[in-house]
Amino acid sequence: MSSASPGGRPPQTPPRTGGLPVPPSPPGRRHWLADLAWLPGQGVCRDVLIEADGDRFTSVIPQTPATPKTPPATERLRGLTLPGFANAHSHAFHRALRGITQADRGTFWTWRERMYEVAARLDPDSYLSLARAVYAEMALAGVSCVGEFHYLHHQPDGRPYADPNAMGRALVQAAAEAGLRMTLLDTCYLAGGLDQSGVLPLAGPQVRFSDGDGWRWAARAEALGPDERGMLSPHARAGAAIHSVRAVPPEHMHAVVAWASRRGDPVHIHMSEQRVENEACRAVYGVSPAQLLYDEDVLGPRTSVVHATHVGSADLELLGGSQVFACLCPTTERDLGDGLAPARPLAAAGCTLTLGSDSHAVIDILEEARGVEYAERLARRSRGHFTAEILLQAATSAGHTSLGWPDAGEIAPGAWADLVTVSLDSVRTAGAADALALEAAVFAASATDVRTVIISGRDVVRDGIHQLIPDVPAELSRTIRAALS
Ligand SMILES: [Zn+2]
Repeated sequence: MSSASPGGRPPQTPPRTGGLPVPPSPPGRRHWLADLAWLPGQGVCRDVLIEADGDRFTSVIPQTPATPKTPPATERLRGLTLPGFANAHSHAFHRALRGITQADRGTFWTWRERMYEVAARLDPDSYLSLARAVYAEMALAGVSCVGEFHYLHHQPDGRPYADPNAMGRALVQAAAEAGLRMTLLDTCYLAGGLDQSGVLPLAGPQVRFSDGDGWRWAARAEALGPDERGMLSPHARAGAAIHSVRAVPPEHMHAVVAWASRRGDPVHIHMSEQRVENEACRAVYGVSPAQLLYDEDVLGPRTSVVHATHVGSADLELLGGSQVFACLCPTTERDLGDGLAPARPLAAAGCTLTLGSDSHAVIDILEEARGVEYAERLARRSRGHFTAEILLQAATSAGHTSLGWPDAGEIAPGAWADLVTVSLDSVRTAGAADALALEAAVFAASATDVRTVIISGRDVVRDGIHQLIPDVPAELSRTIRAALS
């Protein structure tokens, strides 16, 4: 969700080198035999022998039942094996608000005030601890890569930390410690909002979000030190974000797009989540947010517009014609009463759908996936708008591509070695025929049915237990308490 107007560290924390984590050395050659696996272009296949060398798949062969010739130490994957999920839109610190904001009625805007209270309390150490626990929760839900839309840049009074990227580096470190890959979507956030009178000044907790202008934002983002491919670390790459048309006046957008374009980094932006944004944008700039972004050359095949809840037919034409990704966050959008994003018209116009858990009202990518279809059913009073396969593509290959990892999200030779198994014998999924395993997973399974998660060739979750952070609920409890106290 968008928000501009309208303890102690565990002992296993690895040392930092220049603020970035030192990843463990990659594993060697590994083999798995999946009872059922979803393969690109082939659907759900039986007895799939999967080989990886280090962090990439090297071969994928369906119809290969176990025989004496099966490579030794081949691990059996029960249930349905899927590629890793991409969570294309996250604000890690919003996880601290789960439950709290359900106790009273409120609106998007009162929710935002509570969110600012948490934002005001975090520092690099507490942010590292909290994000690490939240990313561990994501791993348990099958997420192999997260797009962190990051704007908590500076100290609460707006002064930079000694390292102006201390907060961003904490997030990169958190992802490494939780076993995920990430795209750090460093976010430009300059104004307190937009109303009929114009651009509003930053106020209160917002002052720590701003670098002053787009060029100074770019200078700080560059100091993160991306290499020529945009990589910040073997597990993390750089991306850029413009918070929204409410938080970034158009004259500053070019600096963000130019910075990202040098290396082909992704660019993400919240867009038209609330009608009031559209109204303010029209009042001040005379056009819709989509038209403003189009006019400022923000829209393109590396751009993700997040939410796109309130868009008209002219907007759809601009978005589809620009081949943007439309990142939908159904559990957040329904939690905040945003409205129903026009998923089918967006897809029909030429946008590629992706998914995010955004405010982390829940972290369950399967729930996000079916939420897209269910919203369409409610809006149109008819069924069957997106197949389970299309919804899973949004959750996997499309999401990874939108985050700048085009070679992830498929179980195929050369792709990142990410595997997620979904149990087919839980109370939610038992009884599903093999031929309908994909439908059972997308429309009935939940994050708790994720049993095994392999990310970049490494075991991160085994039998539902996180291998790097064994007691994730305790970590969430501890770090959220600290963030709220
Ligand atoms: Zn958001």
